[in-house]
Amino acid sequence: MKIIPDVSILKKAVEEAHKRFVNIKDGKNADYIPYLAKVPPQLFGIVIVTVDGNVIEAGDSRFAFAIESISKVFNMALVMEDVGSLALRKKIGADPTGEPFNSVMAIELHRGKPLNPCVNAGAMATVSLVKASSESERWARILENMSGFAGRPLSLNEEVYKSEAATNQHNRGIAWLLDSYGYMYSGPMEACDVYTKGCSVDITAVDLATMGATLAAGGINPITKKRVITETHVSKILAEITMNGLYDSTGDWQYKVGLPGKSGVGGGILAVVPGILAIGVFSPPLDIFGNSVRGQLAAEYLSDTLKLNLFTKGGAREQ
Ligand code: GLN
Repeated sequence: MKIIPDVSILKKAVEEAHKRFVNIKDGKNADYIPYLAKVPPQLFGIVIVTVDGNVIEAGDSRFAFAIESISKVFNMALVMEDVGSLALRKKIGADPTGEPFNSVMAIELHRGKPLNPCVNAGAMATVSLVKASSESERWARILENMSGFAGRPLSLNEEVYKSEAATNQHNRGIAWLLDSYGYMYSGPMEACDVYTKGCSVDITAVDLATMGATLAAGGINPITKKRVITETHVSKILAEITMNGLYDSTGDWQYKVGLPGKSGVGGGILAVVPGILAIGVFSPPLDIFGNSVRGQLAAEYLSDTLKLNLFTKGGAREQ
């Protein structure tokens, strides 16, 4: 049986994690998307949501930030509902590229196959697989799906979207390249634009942890109690992010944290402890791989303190 730690223990750990790392100034905001460079770097929020619906938070846990790459997790979930997990794996894959998240070389090395839905190429191919008869329907389904995970209606941050859309020539290039190799299943510019909108959705660390806790709870949102995805898809999603969630430093993350995780260049990091809880951290300054510095520190601290690492004996509190 899985043992969920008491709320008092979780509260102490979350507050201590905040206190320990609040003054760390390492890393740098993403600046290739102009909006992200302007987000105050000192912001720092940590949240745990348990599978039984407790919300434990510290710091700037209600500050809205751009979900960015973490949207890839939920778009992948939607496509599994639409076409099945096997089709997603065959069309896109589940393996690391070993290259940065926006690598063109990775595409060339694998004859156009994006390899996984967590890199930009695979994420845009994933968006192209969402069942929709128009671009507006594709976008509406993506936003509705993410909202189901968060348990509240999420919305597009127009300013982020404008900033991204004006500077996403590289992603547009990737989308055309995939199309040339036959790995785009809608118009490539439609997929790129809807993907960009998905990255520009505002969430808080509370939303992020709730979205993760929905995965931890086997696909049922622990706050709304509504089923968001089929339970058998959850382990596939977690397998994908276990391998690819922090790009080409996912191995380092697993070495330290030992949990399925996903980061975004907006400064969000999610860690999922199946059957127990999820951790959502927000702190904009990133390391060279594009992962939040304090997000990783907080996740490592919480994984150690609360004995959450899945790769340890009795890992993730199995008793
Ligand atoms: N919108 C960003 C991009 O496409 C998301 C990347 C990320 O968070 N790693 O580059």
